[in-house]
Amino acid sequence: MGENKLTGTEQIGVLQSLSQQAAAWLLNLNGRSLRDRPDIPRNINGEYDARRLLEWAAGRLPEPNLTDADQERLLTIGEHYTGECSFACKAIADFGKDLEAKYGDAGLAVLARALLDACREAVALDPAYYQEPTAAELRREAEELVDQRRMDQARQRLDVSVVCETCRRLRRGPKWVKADPPAGFVVIKGVCPSCEARE
Ligand SMILES: [Zn+2]
Repeated sequence: MGENKLTGTEQIGVLQSLSQQAAAWLLNLNGRSLRDRPDIPRNINGEYDARRLLEWAAGRLPEPNLTDADQERLLTIGEHYTGECSFACKAIADFGKDLEAKYGDAGLAVLARALLDACREAVALDPAYYQEPTAAELRREAEELVDQRRMDQARQRLDVSVVCETCRRLRRGPKWVKADPPAGFVVIKGVCPSCEARE
C-alpha cells in the first residue's frame, strides 16, 4: 500500500465525516437542495455520515419531472382541498409527518395511495354526486344568486310588490287592486284574502 493511500479504517473515518460538498455529491443534490432538506441526517458538528445518508436515500423515491400543467393541477387540488376540509387536513398533515419520519418517501406514498383509494371508492359509490356541474347548472346557480341579491336589495329599499299568484291582484296596503307593479319593483308571489277564502 502506497504511503498516500488511506487504510480501510481511515477511509471509514472519512466517510463518517463528509463535508456538505461531498454529501451533496453522494446524494446527487446541489448544496442548496441539501441545506433545504432538514430531514437529511447530519452529525452534531455539521458533517455528514455516508452510511446515514444512504439509509436516508433508501427511503426516498426519485422525483418525477412533472409537466407545468400537472404541477398546476396539483396546486389547484391542494388549494381546493385545504379550503374544503380543514379538520381532515390537520389529521393528514400530522399523520404524514409521522409516516415520513418513520418510513421516508415510501411512507408518504402509502398515505397518498390510501387517500387516492378512498377518493376512488367514494366516486365509484355515487358517481352522480361527484359529477362536475354542467355549464347550464352553473349558469342557473349564478342566476339564482343574482336574483336573490336583487331581491335582498329591493327588500331593503322596500321596492317590493306582492302580487296574488291566483288573481294577479297587487297588494296596496289593506287592498288588493288590479294594477301593475311599479317599474323596477321586484314581484313577490302571495295569496290575496279572497283567493285564500276560496281555496
Ligand atoms: Zn287573489
